[in-house]
Amino acid sequence: MTTKTTVAVAIDGPSGAGKSTIARVLASELGFVYVDTGALYRTVGLAALRRGADPHDAAAVESLLPELQVSLGYVEGSQRVFLNGEDVSDCIRTPEVSMAASAVSALPPVRRFLFDLQQDTARRQNVIMDGRDIGTVVLPFAQVKIFLTASAEDRAQRRFEELAAKGSSATYDEVLRDMKERDYNDSHRAAAPLRPAEDAVLVDTTGNTLEQSVELLKSLVTERLKG
Ligand code: C5P
Repeated sequence: MTTKTTVAVAIDGPSGAGKSTIARVLASELGFVYVDTGALYRTVGLAALRRGADPHDAAAVESLLPELQVSLGYVEGSQRVFLNGEDVSDCIRTPEVSMAASAVSALPPVRRFLFDLQQDTARRQNVIMDGRDIGTVVLPFAQVKIFLTASAEDRAQRRFEELAAKGSSATYDEVLRDMKERDYNDSHRAAAPLRPAEDAVLVDTTGNTLEQSVELLKSLVTERLKG
């Protein structure tokens, strides 16, 4: 649980809604630490793939957890994620790891495994944390909660451009298909499904430029923090 001495802003929503880009800019403007919780699930997904475990196999994934050490570090204000001491921040960004993250994130032992790390991080400093269940489960006492969304086509287009810029050969149709599958998994799983907290502000960024979305959220967050 966060204490009254720290401030937490929770940003939840489906993949590709712009959460991480917007949260990163906001955090740097507000002097908060940005925490990308998707990176933690991706790291567990990567560990499962590397060890040859089926990410859907609850027993196989659970048996790996005692051997995994997942931690966060910050290099020049930028979050890095470590798996047993190895910086895996770059290798968790492939479509294969995205799907593995989506699968392992449905397993309650994985969610419990990552819960304390997320709460402890928020207890120690002011954070903007993004994910799927931050406002509902991880930081229910966050002072500001935002549920950020956009049409699946808009989100797939953004993700497709990001992947293409990194040299990925994934097509727009493949990205859209994976995104719809992940959306479905994330919102239909029994454990901490993707849904807005009752006190979240809903923001739809369809058709917005990144700058417009950043401005919108900046005024919303600063307004709420003043109040
Ligand atoms: O945000 P990102 O797309 O990197 O997250 C990867 C996957 O991790 C998501 O598809 C989702 O299944 C899972 N996740 C989650 N809870 C969070 C953050 C991410 O279940 N708080």
